[in-house]
Amino acid sequence: MIVDKKKQLEELKKDLESKAGTIPLLITSEDVIFGEGNPDATIFFIGEAGGFWEAKLRRPFVGNAGKLLNELIGSIGLKREDVYISNVVKARPPENRDPLPNEIESFKLYIDRELEIIRPKCIIALGRFAMAKFLPYGKISIDHGKARLVEYNGQRYIFIPMFHPAAALRGADVDQKIREDFKNISGEIERMEKLINGLTQKVEVKKEEQLTLI
Ligand code: URA
Repeated sequence: MIVDKKKQLEELKKDLESKAGTIPLLITSEDVIFGEGNPDATIFFIGEAGGFWEAKLRRPFVGNAGKLLNELIGSIGLKREDVYISNVVKARPPENRDPLPNEIESFKLYIDRELEIIRPKCIIALGRFAMAKFLPYGKISIDHGKARLVEYNGQRYIFIPMFHPAAALRGADVDQKIREDFKNISGEIERMEKLINGLTQKVEVKKEEQLTLI
């Protein structure tokens, strides 16, 4: 069966809009800042929550941090339309404050469903709130740029935590690090793919060994 991912995403967005008034930060359906991009993307970027421009245009990463993100995506030979971009919180917290645990929890179902529908090969978490979803004890300053395998809701992903582009806009040091980390993305994905292939081969050898024993 061919799954119409685009339709599934549209329905998911409508479902979230219908929850306005019952979910924190969603006063009306117009407050929803849903994910966007290629439904068949291999790379899925997850940010924190919308800001001023995102709330105005109802699209993720369209302000200054978004401009930098577009540039970084371009630096690895991709366009924004090639990847999928979303946030753990699909609305704007007042004064752009950090999202609260109950807000993250209220939107969890929606980011989880987006992941399930898109099934990307690689998740790139932008900033600590997105990182904490997969790596609760991670530290961006230590873990940034390094890929690892994560199991999430029964699915295996290549996972790379990154600094948030907004942090890069605030400091030259982080800006340099995020640019280097982007340069290394394809190498990191390749490294993980080799690891996955190695693991699969080991399982196959084990199965063969078991068969010869029988
Ligand atoms: N910062 C985020 O984390 N997400 C956006 O969509 C915009 C800025």
